[in-house]
Amino acid sequence: MKVMKFGGTSVGSIEGILQVKRIVESVNEPVVVVVSATNTTTDTLISMTEDAHQGKDIQAVFEALRKRHMDIIQAVVPQSKLISTQTEIQALLDELWTLYQNLSEEKNLSQQTKDLIVSYGERISSRILCQVIDKAVYAYAPDFIKTIGSFDKHSPDIDLSTKLIKKHFPKLPAVTLCPGFIASDKDTGLITNLGRGGSDYTASLIAAALQADVLEIWTDVDGFMTADPRVISKSYVIEKLSYVEAMELCNFGAKVIYPPTIYPAYHQNIPIYIKNTFNLHAQGTYISRDKTMSTEPVKGISSINDTALVTMVGLGMVGVIGISKRVFGALANVGISTFFISQAASENTISVGVTNDEADLAVKVISEEFEHELAVGEINSVCAEKNLATIAVVGDNMKRIPGISGKLFGALGRSGINVIAIAQGGSETNISFVIESAVLRKTLNVLHEVFFLSEFQELNIFLIGIGTVGGGLLDQIMLQQPKLQKQNNIKIKVVGVADEFKVLFNRDGITLRNYRELLATEGVDSTPEVILKGVLEMNIFNAVFVDCTASRKIAGLYKELLLHNISVVAANKITASGDYDTYIELKDIARKRGIKFLFETNVGAGLPVINTMNNLVNSGDKILKLEAVLSGTLNFIFNTISADIPLSKAIVMAKEARYSEPDPRIDLSGMDVIRKLVILTREAGYKVEQEDVKKNLFVPQKYFEGTLDDFWNSIHELDAEFELTRKRLEADNKRCRFVATMENGECSVGLQEVDMHHPFYELEGSNNIIMIKTERYYDYPMIIKGYGAGASVTAAGVFADIMSVANIR
Ligand code: ADP
Ligand code: ASP
Ligand code: MG
Repeated sequence: MKVMKFGGTSVGSIEGILQVKRIVESVNEPVVVVVSATNTTTDTLISMTEDAHQGKDIQAVFEALRKRHMDIIQAVVPQSKLISTQTEIQALLDELWTLYQNLSEEKNLSQQTKDLIVSYGERISSRILCQVIDKAVYAYAPDFIKTIGSFDKHSPDIDLSTKLIKKHFPKLPAVTLCPGFIASDKDTGLITNLGRGGSDYTASLIAAALQADVLEIWTDVDGFMTADPRVISKSYVIEKLSYVEAMELCNFGAKVIYPPTIYPAYHQNIPIYIKNTFNLHAQGTYISRDKTMSTEPVKGISSINDTALVTMVGLGMVGVIGISKRVFGALANVGISTFFISQAASENTISVGVTNDEADLAVKVISEEFEHELAVGEINSVCAEKNLATIAVVGDNMKRIPGISGKLFGALGRSGINVIAIAQGGSETNISFVIESAVLRKTLNVLHEVFFLSEFQELNIFLIGIGTVGGGLLDQIMLQQPKLQKQNNIKIKVVGVADEFKVLFNRDGITLRNYRELLATEGVDSTPEVILKGVLEMNIFNAVFVDCTASRKIAGLYKELLLHNISVVAANKITASGDYDTYIELKDIARKRGIKFLFETNVGAGLPVINTMNNLVNSGDKILKLEAVLSGTLNFIFNTISADIPLSKAIVMAKEARYSEPDPRIDLSGMDVIRKLVILTREAGYKVEQEDVKKNLFVPQKYFEGTLDDFWNSIHELDAEFELTRKRLEADNKRCRFVATMENGECSVGLQEVDMHHPFYELEGSNNIIMIKTERYYDYPMIIKGYGAGASVTAAGVFADIMSVANIR
């Protein structure tokens, strides 16, 4: 025989009940069917109890409950039994209504009254199901599930209940229908229950007593999943679990099964199947005594959001015998159960996890117990930290495998998640730890990714600036996305986008196809403060902040972001070329936190310059000298000037081709080159500021002093002089280049005339060239050359930086 339990969602709708009928009627062996109250009914009964007791009007809610059940009856009960069923359920509802009516007169709401009211959920649902399923024989659970009271809770008297179940079912009919959850007090016979979610327990007690072949728990998910599917969308079904693993997981909040359910089945070695009422094809989860075959060390992750940590600190506790006994005794005396215990080997602190509700009482009773020690200072304090969450990482195979906790806490550290307390039992099947509630979702995501990488890794991008580079980047991400996910198991999700007017956040990912429309219609006003707040509040794991602006204010956010363990990828040059101490500070923060601060595109657009230099330096080489043409714009201008195209026209052309900065004076003044040279010099290991760079400029200072319009109106004045120089160089077979040089940390920029043997002579269009002379590349310096400007190569460089953030995980 078998026992099948159907949960609230399974019996909570017309469709669900008809499905339950089909499932049960296709079984070919005797079966005991245990049902919950219909979906949400138990919650409603409880909240109506409180409201009615406070004198609030519950009529509308009650009527909705009545109608819901009557509608179900109308749709699922066969015509022949319809009227009798309606009459029967109406009678139960009338009784319930009378109970509510009398509530406002009760001064103190007794547990007994609450238990009686809440029992109507299962009493009603089971009576309906009994009329729907063919040949079902009714069994009233309180007749054989007996409880004993302890504090406000009831627990079953297992021996007595087992005896009564056996007696109640000397011979099993084909189908027995029985309400879950409800029971009766062993002594008084008054109605009680097995606690919230307790229908599972009813089913398990019956299965154990009757030595069932299997206990099936039918619910609304495909099985026990690697994590709560409502929080982790990537969670997936675990095919097999041992009793111990299942117990560890559900004990820590995985709702699928009510925790005490496992024990009776385990004790009688009855396998448990978790199945989905609404998806018969899903294989489900099989829980049994077998050690599972899987080699995965971690099987699942579960969590309890409602956690407070009560901590007792005192040097006077060290070495004293019996302290823990008194702590737990004090808690037990008032019925507080603890689900987490951590004590340092030094013995001067003990922390216990309780629910937020019970925290104050826990502090009170422990303080009373240790009144004397607190008074004389042997114990310094007893206090509660609330609004925390406890997470358990579970798996039989974690046993004797080194490195699991390293991996776990390493990942949390890199993601900026602070661990408040840790506990691992000697059985090594469960590592539990406490964090702040606010980071629960992020923590679950990080852990899920670390231990269940088989699916894919997610990178969450905030992109600020959607001009030519940022916009190009989004296009490239959209194109590459399917391939990255398939070949590299990486999923790039853009969770924030901003331009200078609007900013839009969406933790599920912004649709890239029409992000500009979405930004315009759904975005909020964009300021650096709003952006920072939005990013930090989303508190999402594997976050990368991508700055494709030229804004000083956005650059000013990096420190705060890095301090929150968010990697930064900047196309913006302001920070890396700005104040040296800030640059070093940011690099330090990133290094210490195991995240990235990258700005490869600051020099040479997509050319791998900074990364190459870092590799040289890291492998013990020393960079002695750099010579480079770093301005695509200036190079374009020098290559474009001809007898027909004077300097002023070449500048306009550079702007139109989008090589130059929006304000071309930044290029002509050498400022852009100086910034780049400063960045290269720093990455080569030297300390330098922009003011330290010697400038030999070719456009006199006065052209930079007025407005941009003044500049455009007067720049032609230089055309004649440039034409003279051009002619002279042409005659000598030379070319003009704006060269940045660093030698042993000394930097300069200026025009240089190069002959045809010089590597810089042949440098077409807007290309860049960087010559790196090192101790190893001494006689023949390393040369990196190619497109040094342009939106698509720069976007590709930013993309490459983003990908290297993925690779550190
Ligand atoms: P029922 O009403 O059938 O008893 P429950 O609501 O008690 O169902 O339990 C099933 C729910 O548990 C699922 O709908 C799911 O949202 C939640 N849940 C939490 N953690 C997990 C997990 N690790 N695996 C599967 N479901 C989980
Ligand atoms: N109806 C009860 C509850 O909601 C028992 C159960 O569904 O298992 O807690
Ligand atoms: Mg349940």
